[in-house]
Amino acid sequence: MAERVETQAIVLQRFAFGESSQVVHLLTGALGRVVALARGAWREKNSYEGPLDLLVRGTVTLSLVQGRELALLTGRKVETAYPGLRSDLARHGAACHVLSRVLHFESVGSGSGAFALVDRALQAIETVASSRLPLLLLAFDVRLADLHGLRPDVDQCVRCGSSRQLARFVAGAGGVVCVGCLGQRDEGAAIDVRSAALLRDLATTPLRQLPDPAPATLSRARRLLDLHLEWHADALLAAPRARARPAARRSSRGRR
Ligand SMILES: [Zn+2]
Repeated sequence: MAERVETQAIVLQRFAFGESSQVVHLLTGALGRVVALARGAWREKNSYEGPLDLLVRGTVTLSLVQGRELALLTGRKVETAYPGLRSDLARHGAACHVLSRVLHFESVGSGSGAFALVDRALQAIETVASSRLPLLLLAFDVRLADLHGLRPDVDQCVRCGSSRQLARFVAGAGGVVCVGCLGQRDEGAAIDVRSAALLRDLATTPLRQLPDPAPATLSRARRLLDLHLEWHADALLAAPRARARPAARRSSRGRR
C-alpha cells in the first residue's frame, strides 16, 4: 500500500534518470531528506513544473511505499526559486555553502526538522546586506549543529563543568576545556572570550539583533566552528545509520 504525503520541499540534488526522468533529493518539511523519482520530468507535459532544478521550493506530493527508500514524486507546485540567490556571486556562494552543509548533515529519512531553518536561511541570503553574509552563514551552521545536538559548548568546561579558566577549544570534546582539564597545553585550538560569546549568541539571538563582530572575532569563530563541524561530520559519517526511520512518516503536511 502506498502512502501519499503532501509537504513543502526544497530540491537539493537532481540526476538524470533514463530518457526523460530525474532522481531528486528533496529536503521536505514533513519527512526530512527524501529521494524521489520524478517520472517524465523532462517531458513537455509533466506534473512538476519540471525539470526540477536546485534550490527551488515548492509543495510536493510524494507516494511512499513502506520499506522502499525511493519515493515517487507525483506532483509539485513551485513556490519560489529564491531569485535573489541567483542575482550575484556572493549570494550564490552563500547558498552553495548552505546546500553543501545540508547534503553533509541531513541523511535520507532522518528528519531533523532542518527544512524551516534552511528555507529561512535561503530567504535571508536573498536580502541581507552582502557584508553580513559571513555572519549569516556562521549563524546557520551553529543552528544546524544545534538541530543535530552538536552545538559547541562554549560556556563551561566540557570535561569538568567549571566556567573558570577556560583555555582551549577541543573539537573532539565538543567545546571549551579549562586549564586544569587540558591533556596537553596545546591541545585543541585557541579561543577568546569574544569568539566564544559570538558562537553562543548566534545560537540564541536573532541575527538582526546582533551587531557586526570585529573581523578577527568572526574569523576565529568561523575557524573554531569549522573544526567542530569537521570533527563531528566525520563522526556522523562513521557512525552506523541508526536513525533511519522518521517519526513524521504519517503526517500529511509540512511544518510551517
Ligand atoms: Zn575542566
